[in-house]
Amino acid sequence: MPPLWIAVTIFLCLCTATDHQANAEPEAVSAFTHVNLVPMTREAVIPDQTVLIQGKNIVAVGPANQIRLPDDTNVIPGAGAYLMPGIADMHMHLRDDWLTDKWKQSPFKLFLANGVTTIRCFGPIGRTDRYALNLREDIDQGRLTGPRIFTCGKILYIHLNHPEHIVIQQKYQGFDFIKPYSYLSLEEFHQVMSTAKRLKIYVAGHIPFQVGLDGILSEGMDEIAHIEELLWELVAFDRSRYFENANEWMQYVVQTSFQQLEPFLASGADDMEQRLEERLSATVEKLRGRGIPLCTTLVVDDVLIQKLFAPKSFLAKPENRYLPGWYIDLFREGKEKHQQQFKGGEAYAPLKYTLDKILLTRLKQAGVTLLLATDCGSGGLGIVPGFSIHDELGILVENGFSPYEAIACGTLNAAAVVHKMSGQNDFGTIEPGKRADLILVRKNPLENVAHIRDPLGVMAAGRWYNQDELHEWIDF
Ligand SMILES: [Zn+2]
Repeated sequence: MPPLWIAVTIFLCLCTATDHQANAEPEAVSAFTHVNLVPMTREAVIPDQTVLIQGKNIVAVGPANQIRLPDDTNVIPGAGAYLMPGIADMHMHLRDDWLTDKWKQSPFKLFLANGVTTIRCFGPIGRTDRYALNLREDIDQGRLTGPRIFTCGKILYIHLNHPEHIVIQQKYQGFDFIKPYSYLSLEEFHQVMSTAKRLKIYVAGHIPFQVGLDGILSEGMDEIAHIEELLWELVAFDRSRYFENANEWMQYVVQTSFQQLEPFLASGADDMEQRLEERLSATVEKLRGRGIPLCTTLVVDDVLIQKLFAPKSFLAKPENRYLPGWYIDLFREGKEKHQQQFKGGEAYAPLKYTLDKILLTRLKQAGVTLLLATDCGSGGLGIVPGFSIHDELGILVENGFSPYEAIACGTLNAAAVVHKMSGQNDFGTIEPGKRADLILVRKNPLENVAHIRDPLGVMAAGRWYNQDELHEWIDF
């Protein structure tokens, strides 16, 4: 190669680099210094570390005495504190009233104040156009304060008109995944799956009643929206039946399940586990080694029990003051979704919770990937955005997860699933190149997940919110 040519090329490269830098906004640099690092790449706390952040990303991590800080670095002193990755709520629902005065505080801020820096919407409620995508963009561009959003489009609920067209449209609108619901027919589900496979779009949803677990496995559905979806594998109902109306469908399945659980109302949970042993282990074995994750959403059961059996203490929960007034009124009148659904069948709710916990434990033992998720924002409400993630973590620990394993469901596992779903592999651990989605806490979260509550501060996409700011949003 002639020397002149090389010289010109180098010169041009330098010019391009300089021009580019001149046009781009200088990216803010900040650093957490002298922190106890909880990197979540493995179960460890590494003392006296510094984490350097430029713009939205972590650029360096290392011993505090080895990381050089640029002059204009915004230093966040972290001595004595613990820095961990931000948490993801992997199954929630955006609602169309979230930015209205129906909510005393923006649920987006409730998430951040609780350390939730990523949310994945399993079907926006009230608005099914580009609403969720616009919110995602507003947050990404800094016009709205909130966590990073992943979302599906309109839920594929019942009676689909041209399923393949719906999947194609949602894919090209920019949604991250497709969500099939319980009421799809065999044929509809097949068309959804074959179109999704062709377009390479991720599918996460309910197990349609007509399809069942075997059916979703053979069609290759990527993910199951709740552990509780597996309950329908434990009871026997006629999958070939078809109902025109979603409520009739649900009523049929719930009534049939209640009838089959009835003997255990008197004999108790142990008897139930023994008598269902064959089905329980067969169901879990089908998922072993398949790489199909499930969202935990056990807080739904926990809140259901509170609503049915301890309505006064449910209403007295401090975080419930952030729920909209219309919901509290509906609850007081006994007319909210779960109160209606379990009317006359209240006694079955604890049995359902027991079964969900048994499934949780067995899925974990079988090495199935579990994703931290609350289902907040869904039709039942009563699950408060942000706060509920701590309840979910607590439930996992009560059921045999170490704090590290529980936190991994909302960091490491969540990031692996988002990677598969979107191709982006940029959060869930504290490493150079990952997003600066971080939580600073006073005490070691690997000793007790409750230490993540009321953090010293939260960083989302490189933006730092200190405790004073978080306390302006929510009063602990
Ligand atoms: Zn949901």
